[in-house]
Amino acid sequence: MFSYRHAFHAGNHADVLKHTMLIAILRHLTQKDSPLVVVDTHAGAGLYRLDGDYAGTSGEATDGVVKLFAALAPADSSKVAIKDIAPVLQDYMETVAGFNPSGQLKMYPGSPFIAQALLREEARDKLKLFEMHPTDSKALAANIAQLKAGRQVAAARQDGFEGLKAFLPPPSRRALVLIDPSYEIKSDYQKVSGCIQDSLKRFSTGTYVVWYPVIPRPEAHELPRRLKTLANQAGKPWLHATLAIGQAEDRNVPGEPGRGQGLTASGMFVINPPHTLKPALTLALPQLLQVLGRGRGKGQTLEAGG
Ligand code: SAM
Repeated sequence: MFSYRHAFHAGNHADVLKHTMLIAILRHLTQKDSPLVVVDTHAGAGLYRLDGDYAGTSGEATDGVVKLFAALAPADSSKVAIKDIAPVLQDYMETVAGFNPSGQLKMYPGSPFIAQALLREEARDKLKLFEMHPTDSKALAANIAQLKAGRQVAAARQDGFEGLKAFLPPPSRRALVLIDPSYEIKSDYQKVSGCIQDSLKRFSTGTYVVWYPVIPRPEAHELPRRLKTLANQAGKPWLHATLAIGQAEDRNVPGEPGRGQGLTASGMFVINPPHTLKPALTLALPQLLQVLGRGRGKGQTLEAGG
């Protein structure tokens, strides 16, 4: 069950999409004075070394955050690939750069560190983290301790689908929930939709953000459809974004289609998105595709409803 380690994937194209959207949503939700509760049901280790053993093995950041920085923040600024960088992409890059004061991309912040960086002490925002992996939960606890964030951040080695229930509805009636499983086990897809259904009953006005892999598996195709139905049944607005970087021709394994490519596409489904999210992504997604797109199968989609 615990073969997935996010360190292998940190900073890949899926993280770029996920964290760009997370930042855009948090920027909006932290504009109101009342306290915000952020629950990250599948937190990971929180902070990753891009030059470490794990990231180095697969080098997935090379097709993600590293490629983005090379194109949009090159050492020679006259070589920048896009002149008018979408504000949410700029914000994502500045947030990541904030963890790399030397100017070289060495560290990659996971969702807990990104959220913590954007939360406000004075507004008494809170961050609740769940991570089940024995090693990653220890790493998360150690990383969080370094932040000296006190009672603002709490991490538990507990099932996030279950742990979330205790925080809904939050006293301030303002919450952002990120549900980002590894989908190692097929039942995760059903657990996600069950969790959203239950959460909407407990607290229908929360902002719910679900990441999922776009892979040839019926459960993966079904998940966004199911989430759309749940949002529509609850009468809540939703937004659905996908980014496919497509195939890298030089990585194809002859006679074994799809092998050697790794994950090529992912999606984000948001219930009760900020009204600013769609226009922000309308600008950012084509730019992400321009920079990260590799070949056959590349594309992006953005739809909203409710
Ligand atoms: N959200 C993180 C980020 O964006 O930086 C990445 C999370 S990673 C995709 C998924 C994590 O969920 C893994 O570290 C895995 O060990 C953990 N996990 C798996 N099942 C879990 C569960 N039921 N509850 C909490 N964590 C779980």
